[in-house]
Amino acid sequence: MSKIQQKWVIQTILRDGNVCLYCKKELKYNEITLDHIVPKSLGGREINNLAVSCLDCNRLKGSLLLTEFLNRHGIELNEKIARYL
Ligand SMILES: [Zn+2]
Repeated sequence: MSKIQQKWVIQTILRDGNVCLYCKKELKYNEITLDHIVPKSLGGREINNLAVSCLDCNRLKGSLLLTEFLNRHGIELNEKIARYL
């Protein structure tokens, strides 16, 4: 991980807390992954595009767009998620 990436990881965790954006599970530090809201392949590379997520949700979301993912898995919209829409 580059210095910039490390900084983004820390800032994202400070901003979002240690709770998965999607399933709201509380995560230990070593369980936290960062989801790219707009998939990397579609150019989402800034810090505003990152969200704390558990590995399961991150894997499930894969390269789906946020709305596709929410619809497909029946995930309720909450304030935190709405910030990215
Ligand atoms: Zn999750």
